[in-house]
Amino acid sequence: MAVCRTCNLDFEKLRVELSVETLARENRIGPRGLHLHCPACGEQNEIELKPYGLFVRGEKRKLYRWLGAQTKIENSKGQCRINLGAMALSLPEKLKDDYIAGDNFNVEQICHKAVPVFRQLDGSLLAPDLPVRREYLDLVDTSRPAQSDRTARGGYRFTFHLTVTEQPVEVTLPAVSVRPGQPPPADGVEAFEGVHLLLWPKVNYKSWRRYFLRFGCAGTTAEDLLGGARDVKVYTYAGKSLDESAREWLALDTVSPDRRTRFACVETRPEWVGVEFEDGGRGEPTGGGLWRIRPATDSYPELETTVAVDFGTSNTCIAWDAPHGASLLAIRSCDEVVINGSSLPNRLEFPDTWPPRQGFGPSQALLPTEILTREKVGDYRTRNHLVRDWMPVLDFSIPTSRVETAYNETEYVIPDFKWQNMIGDAWYKKQHVDLQKKYLEFLLLIVIAEMVTHNAIGPSLNVEFSYPLAFDDEMQDKFVAVLQEATTAVSRQTGVNVMPHLESPLGGGKKTIPLDEARAAALSASSYGNDDSACLYVDIGGGSTDIALLELRRPPARHDTYVNICSFEYAGGGLAAALAEGGCLKAGSDISHFRRKIREAGSVTELMNSDTLFSNNKRNAITNKSSFFYAYLRQFLSRLLAAHLINKALATNGGRPVAPADAGAAGEAGAPAARETYRVLLYPLGNGWGFGGFIDTRYVSRVFAQLLTGEANAILEEAIGAGVVPPDVPRVEVSSQVLSEPKNAVVFGLLNNRGSAQLSAQDWSWRSIVGWTTRTGPAQKAEWFRPVTGGSAIAPPGADPVNGGAILECSSEEWPAFPQRLPTPHELDRRNELTRLLARCSPTAHEQSWFLESPFHVLLEKLFKPALKELT
Ligand SMILES: [Zn+2]
Repeated sequence: MAVCRTCNLDFEKLRVELSVETLARENRIGPRGLHLHCPACGEQNEIELKPYGLFVRGEKRKLYRWLGAQTKIENSKGQCRINLGAMALSLPEKLKDDYIAGDNFNVEQICHKAVPVFRQLDGSLLAPDLPVRREYLDLVDTSRPAQSDRTARGGYRFTFHLTVTEQPVEVTLPAVSVRPGQPPPADGVEAFEGVHLLLWPKVNYKSWRRYFLRFGCAGTTAEDLLGGARDVKVYTYAGKSLDESAREWLALDTVSPDRRTRFACVETRPEWVGVEFEDGGRGEPTGGGLWRIRPATDSYPELETTVAVDFGTSNTCIAWDAPHGASLLAIRSCDEVVINGSSLPNRLEFPDTWPPRQGFGPSQALLPTEILTREKVGDYRTRNHLVRDWMPVLDFSIPTSRVETAYNETEYVIPDFKWQNMIGDAWYKKQHVDLQKKYLEFLLLIVIAEMVTHNAIGPSLNVEFSYPLAFDDEMQDKFVAVLQEATTAVSRQTGVNVMPHLESPLGGGKKTIPLDEARAAALSASSYGNDDSACLYVDIGGGSTDIALLELRRPPARHDTYVNICSFEYAGGGLAAALAEGGCLKAGSDISHFRRKIREAGSVTELMNSDTLFSNNKRNAITNKSSFFYAYLRQFLSRLLAAHLINKALATNGGRPVAPADAGAAGEAGAPAARETYRVLLYPLGNGWGFGGFIDTRYVSRVFAQLLTGEANAILEEAIGAGVVPPDVPRVEVSSQVLSEPKNAVVFGLLNNRGSAQLSAQDWSWRSIVGWTTRTGPAQKAEWFRPVTGGSAIAPPGADPVNGGAILECSSEEWPAFPQRLPTPHELDRRNELTRLLARCSPTAHEQSWFLESPFHVLLEKLFKPALKELT
């Protein structure tokens, strides 16, 4: 048994006496045996102790002798001797307790005094796999089968193998008393009810690393588990870091406010879960046991899939290239149930940060672009617990569908972090990059777990993202860095090589996202005819409306080109807030509830006839508020289209709009000049259009475009009257191109785009228009149709620069007029705030440049949006 591994010398034949004291001092007592040099060849050997029924444990490396081992610990003449063949270990008897922890060590000593038993939902009783205390798990030979039976007297008999004995050991233990100090239940079965132990996700891949654990109880029986002086502690044997493979016992020590639920996040597949009961607060377990987690056995199959992620302001939507074609990815629960005594509660008294159980919307493929925090949002700031150190489940999650919330959600939700400027709190604003990173990393983990259930995950995964047009270069660069870091992190957590689709358009190292959101949406469905001149994408999201005007250029001219892009915070969320604050919701519904309902339905349309949400006597108010909301937006769009014809940005920008009467445009003297018609395809994208259903069933498909045509042409007539353009200026004709699922347009476009590289150069120089004629000095003004850049402000040709700190004012006399029945800015400005609000647009003091922001955007955000609450 103890033979030199080099020269085969049998150590048992050596007639030597080794001092245990010396061996310990020289650090020759290892966890598995004695480190001895072979006297023949000098080789260092480890002499295993197990075959002698001896073992070494603990930090102090004390010796134990198993009960019934043939090797004896003999005492004589003040000396202790342990014979290993002719070789002997010895030490003075008075030092015995320093080096020998146990003689006749037995199975009871490594087991709990009682084992907890849980009743599962199907009525079955679940006892632990092993009754062993977790510190002795290493003595169990877990490669050999273990068994447990309930005995006739209500106890549990366990049979399992130890590493230190040949024969299996057997021990019979009572069940932990459900109500200590009280008589046992009538049926004699001591079993805890309502307890669940979950592992997330349910995967069988060996290289998956990150797991979450949840131990909790539901219902009235929770008192049994947690009442009185009883405490329950739960541990898991797993790795705590992605950087190393060592396992250790880690506590599920993130505890819910009601103490009923505890969580852990670990970075290897857990092997065991230990549940320990402490009664009477003595800090010593009075009962407990170990549950085995089935080991993962598979490797990723050889396949490569692609997912597309539309990271929106309010919602994020996911699709994948399923075998039968591009498909939305429904998010569902990916829990593996270990103890099945209760379902997760549906009514939440506190923010539950377990991974989402189900996505929102009819296809369940939407997740809110929100971070749900476990503690109040403000508490993290108080503790200066930085976002970059947050862990999913322990610190945050993504809100789930299919639950009712009985706490104030707004105190626990961080929304709008896609846009740095939309985050109100300065502490979080500084960390917007980390918020995005944490969110996308967790989102991708959820997506991959869900894809596993479709057997659609191989060793690598392509991810398509897009970016909003309103991101400037710096924001795009930051977003690319966020995607790279998030995908790298989730690659380590899953063992899947997650690759974001990025390109280097200029060669070199700089990476960009190939596709913007508007173009992705267009790719999903659009087909335009020869008569079409431009596409106008209007994506009304929850937080922002993103607008892109794309001029379609004919070959052999250059690519289609964006002539205008802009984004402002005037969107569906603003109207939702106006409806909520304007008393249109039934009593008991607030804005959080409303938002959740909109998400559950996937769009506003389905909610319109909901009896539970809206007050019936407010139908008119709801319709009117919605009309005002779209009317102000339409006024901006009318001006945008007219402005581009007036300042010739559209027609003279290298492309040539096809006009039916083009042939006669030169005109004979005296004959009326034929006019071009500038055909614009309006793409209504995003959930914010859903409110249009309150006004007219064909509002989005027809009415809005008709009104837009009329209002844009009315402005052009005024321009002719003002002598700004000749009478033959092209007129506008807008028609609506409704996609079947406008919210999903972006993800399907992203999947369509894979492999094709028909992307246009983004060579726009102007992002918006002034929108409202503005006095910029005593004798100076900037006309409404002038363009505005995004911050890098040079005055456009023919316009006077604006003096820094100049007071900006608008006269109510200026054209174009607001449409009838639409209150003008001056009528709304009862508190005389216009001048103060417009100050945001002027350059900083002592600088002479151009508008930093569009005055009309300021009106939309700061005047029209708040006014919706009052307007009826
Ligand atoms: Zn040797």
